[in-house]
Amino acid sequence: MGDTSEAQYLAEIGEHEREMERTQRAGIKHAYAKAKAAKTGEQIACPACGKAQRKRSYQHAFCGQRCKDWYWNRADETRMQRAIAYSGGA
Ligand SMILES: [Zn+2]
Repeated sequence: MGDTSEAQYLAEIGEHEREMERTQRAGIKHAYAKAKAAKTGEQIACPACGKAQRKRSYQHAFCGQRCKDWYWNRADETRMQRAIAYSGGA
């Protein structure tokens, strides 16, 4: 009895975390699309940290390399899993 409810609890926690991941990924992808769609010289928000900045060139979207890395490690599920797998060895 106790085992069943604990297993269900853990399953629900896992489901909730997956949903949060999914929502976050959708949010940053939307922010990235918005930054990419903006014209050079327009005000954009960094898709990773949300910092306001002026778009410097047509491909510019992030405030810096750190945010770029952060974004690409999360936006893509397979890359994200690889990043998690590698983080232990680095
Ligand atoms: Zn940033």
